[in-house]
Amino acid sequence: MTIDKNAQLFERARQVIPGGVNSPVRAFNAVGGTPPFIARAQGAYLWDANGKQYVDYIGSWGPMILGHGQADVVQAVQAALLDGFSFGAPTEREVALSEAILRLIPSMEMVRLVSSGTEAGMSAIRLARGYTGRNKLIKFNGCYHGHADALLVKAGSGLATFGASSSAGVPAEVVQDTVVLEYNDIAQLEEAFAKYEGQIACVMMEPIAGNMNFVRATPEFTLRIRQLCDAHGALMIYDEVMTGFRVALGGAQSIYAQQLPGFQPDITVMGKVIGGGMPMAAFGARREIMEKLSPLGPVYQAGTLSGNPIATACGLKTLELISQPGFHERLHAQTGKLMAGIKAEADAAGIPFCVDHQGGLFGFFLLPELPSNYDAVMKSDKPLFNKFFHGMLARGHYFAPALYEAGFVSSAHTDADITSTIEAAREVFKTL
Ligand SMILES: *Cc1c(COP(=O)(O)O)cnc(C)c1O
Repeated sequence: MTIDKNAQLFERARQVIPGGVNSPVRAFNAVGGTPPFIARAQGAYLWDANGKQYVDYIGSWGPMILGHGQADVVQAVQAALLDGFSFGAPTEREVALSEAILRLIPSMEMVRLVSSGTEAGMSAIRLARGYTGRNKLIKFNGCYHGHADALLVKAGSGLATFGASSSAGVPAEVVQDTVVLEYNDIAQLEEAFAKYEGQIACVMMEPIAGNMNFVRATPEFTLRIRQLCDAHGALMIYDEVMTGFRVALGGAQSIYAQQLPGFQPDITVMGKVIGGGMPMAAFGARREIMEKLSPLGPVYQAGTLSGNPIATACGLKTLELISQPGFHERLHAQTGKLMAGIKAEADAAGIPFCVDHQGGLFGFFLLPELPSNYDAVMKSDKPLFNKFFHGMLARGHYFAPALYEAGFVSSAHTDADITSTIEAAREVFKTL
């Protein structure tokens, strides 16, 4: 009998790391089973501790838009390594990366680099509160903006009473200014602005929610948030940690600006792709807002490894490569082939299935039509999804291990990879 090294490692991991993982979704709690322990990756592929190969549709949850181990990125990181790991002092590469980000996202005139999306989101909220001198924060059920205390709030409790925290260890006082509303619900939004007149610091949203699989904000909803923020002096925070540089070079905001001419959020939060797989995130806004930040202004924010020289080298090279003409159009087309192919197999098998995608981000649902909010997403047939997931994993196609997570395609995914995944899906649908 062959030894299952994944199972051995999971057992060992659980002795020393809570749940055996350093971020909960990796534990496969939603789908059951043993998570593969990844030994290495190259291009579109992962290999686990048993040597089994997978086509990777997670891409480290977004950063690996060029695939793993892209040669130019590896070279840039290797060169940077030799010059030192971290200085805690300013570097030219931070300036170059900031300039590159600002060129691509015109709504940002200044940017601050940090080390994780959580940190960027938390800092953006503090900045919005400091800038407006107000406390209330509106967020939407099913959107994830990192695990800052103020964001860990149970849905459905927002408008009626004070929010209740969704995590132990978060005092009620810390979430009492967080209002959780339904995504794409304009009436609730208007009600909240009326109820908390003069108290709302910011509305924070994922423009395309990738943390409830893949749900687009409608243009009408987006526009109404913009109008209400303007009318009430609140800031609109666009969390593009997942969508930034992935759905389009200009982020999701460039897509919404096509439908809503002149549209811009006030603060943008970025992460994932901007580090190319290294710990790197950022938040930015117009100059007048960013100048409230320490050391210029009264809003404190800092970080020992912020703007880290290795991470900036990785991010800068990644941005350079994805800025090549046609990159996102090709990625969008490739992702579209995958979605259309899997959907055709589901249709042939008579399984309710719908898909959406933008750039290298995709979502599929075991539902007859695309959902527009979290409750609708969660109506998906969970046992059916889990069977699909494990069927695909067993055949070497690694999708996100939960039905409320998005999927990711990189520029390293070839037609042959996509075709083999569609063929595997055909086999798996027969077993459902
Ligand atoms: C991943 C993610 C975050 C958190 O980023 P971390 O780097 O995991 O802290 C925040 N917002 C969105 C939209 C994300 O997808």
